[in-house]
Amino acid sequence: MPQAKTVKFHRWQSRNRYKFHRLFVCDKIWYDRHRKIRWEAEILAGKDTTQQRTAGGVEYTLVRKSVKNMNLRVRKDGTVQVSANPRMAAARIDAFVAAHADWIRAKQSEACRRMENAPDLPTMEQARQRFEEISSRIYPLFAGVLGNRPPEIRVSRMSSRWGVCYPDQHRITLALGLAAVPQPLIYYVVLHEYCHFVQPNHQKPFWDLMERYMPDAKLRRKVLQTYPCRKQ
Ligand SMILES: [Zn+2]
Repeated sequence: MPQAKTVKFHRWQSRNRYKFHRLFVCDKIWYDRHRKIRWEAEILAGKDTTQQRTAGGVEYTLVRKSVKNMNLRVRKDGTVQVSANPRMAAARIDAFVAAHADWIRAKQSEACRRMENAPDLPTMEQARQRFEEISSRIYPLFAGVLGNRPPEIRVSRMSSRWGVCYPDQHRITLALGLAAVPQPLIYYVVLHEYCHFVQPNHQKPFWDLMERYMPDAKLRRKVLQTYPCRKQ
């Protein structure tokens, strides 16, 4: 008798374990799936899918995706991207980026070196010709200020800035790496340096002058800042 009872119990248990499984395990799967669908719906609704943030002095693009936790990536061009789950608090992501700031900077300078050594970077002479051509189009705006004498354009392997203006020497020096950025951004830098012949600093009159000749100057400046290592 006790043996039969045990067998019966086992049968009951196995039947109900299946029910239990249905009730809890499948339910959990459904629940997780449902939650995932909700995150994806939020993403599709365009809620903060991409965001530009700064943490620990590092500028990065935050992309909300249905990834498990978060992934930090330094792209080939040195820009930083973090993909994170929509549930994750932005403060936690910022803290993570800030904690890895040194590693990110090391990766960025590596990317920068790679870009500078890239075979598609023009030679100094090619870069100078390119800058001269752009300069010759901007020069007429400043001919009066410059006493009808175009400034000398030099190219240098600078890594900390895109360009320098020396009003006393009547000269503009531009970074070789600038030749590798899109043309509208080169225009921005060349015009920026020309404006220093009129306004030596970056006060309001300087930006007023910039915007008079280039209404989207600030936007171009922002885009230029996404290129690593070289500051304006
Ligand atoms: Zn400047």
